[in-house]
Amino acid sequence: MTQSDPAIASSVSSLLTLNAGSSSIKFALFERPELALRLTGELDGVGQQTRFIASAPNSGEQFTYEWPHGTAPPDHAGALAWLMQWIKTWLDGLEVSAIGHRVVHGGADFDQAVLVNDAVMAKLRLLEPLAPLHQPHNLAGIEAAQWAFGLLPQVACFDTAFHCHQPFVKDCFALPRALYDEGVRRYGFHGLSYEFIADHLKEAFPLHARGRVIVAHLGNGASMCGMLDGHSVASTMGFSALDGLPMGTRCGQLDPGVLLYLMQDRGMSAKEISDLLYKESGLKGLSGISNDMRTLEASKELHAQQAIDYFVYRVKREIGAMAAALEGLDAIVLTGGIGEHSVGVRRQILQSMSWLGIELDEHANQAGQTIISTARSRVLCLRIPTNEEKMIARHTQALAT
Ligand code: ADP
Repeated sequence: MTQSDPAIASSVSSLLTLNAGSSSIKFALFERPELALRLTGELDGVGQQTRFIASAPNSGEQFTYEWPHGTAPPDHAGALAWLMQWIKTWLDGLEVSAIGHRVVHGGADFDQAVLVNDAVMAKLRLLEPLAPLHQPHNLAGIEAAQWAFGLLPQVACFDTAFHCHQPFVKDCFALPRALYDEGVRRYGFHGLSYEFIADHLKEAFPLHARGRVIVAHLGNGASMCGMLDGHSVASTMGFSALDGLPMGTRCGQLDPGVLLYLMQDRGMSAKEISDLLYKESGLKGLSGISNDMRTLEASKELHAQQAIDYFVYRVKREIGAMAAALEGLDAIVLTGGIGEHSVGVRRQILQSMSWLGIELDEHANQAGQTIISTARSRVLCLRIPTNEEKMIARHTQALAT
């Protein structure tokens, strides 16, 4: 591993963004006030085979590190502490003036990003049961940054906030009302990604941005958002990050009767069911091969093809349902690792949707262009890379002046 030459780094104000998940911790450093990217990277495979990669776009430097075989990999807290220290060492003359965090759950209270204080942390802790696999790690990231960087302003940016003001019928389940009142609602997630796309549409496609738009965030986690005039009015993810589309390892929409069967007839515990639904299902469960779309696309195995087919089928079904919820469709955006990079999945999703007024431009699709529909298509189809880190940086800049 090499470190940058201190002479290259000047003393400029910068923002650090942190996205601390269960097995990966992503970070980026942006120069203020333009929010030019100075450093980006991630710790992957935390707690197992931990790897570190980072790159500094200006200088072209690349950094990699793997914990040597035979040594115990750091646990989550250890990985966070190591990363904070590495970033501080890299900084040299650079000054971090605020830190923004991705926090998966803001509940019904937080409908926008917020400066973190003790009262905010206490409220966010209460939400841990609603997102047990994400929220504790997000909050651990805030604590690690506080410990490493002292009294700097920290900003929590929520994946739920963008969806906060959906109409009641799109926000509730048909369960006894008391459960809705205590917070059993459809929160929707991936909000930072959707907000980034909504902002981008306003700049680049202002007419369509004012209309009815479906954004499909198709990554390892996958969901869809229906927008009217740039605001979220429907999402496929609900109470947890499990609902809606099948994902890398998560099941997506499921008949609740399956859960009753697993508990009553198979005697599975809550922990076993949680592991099954979050870690062993989706593309990985269906294929029995991998959660990674690239691996499945390269495979000749029938089960790999069936997993892709199911993924595509569910996306198409949800597009139909979402178009009905929006009462029409003006544009559709594909984003996330699969939406941005898989020519084949984009084709399979869009080429059979002429009934909705979609006409795919296969040449543009193969070339990875932004507009992938023909000029005749009634619905504008777009491929737009998302940038959640940039969205966190914008919120952090706005709140930590
Ligand atoms: P996360 O939700 O972890 O941020 P990403 O948005 O990075 O996930 O998406 C990861 C998914 O994108 C994986 O299934 C990966 O296989 C898929 N992907 C990335 N690049 C390609 C590609 N060139 N072709 C097909 N799928 C791709």
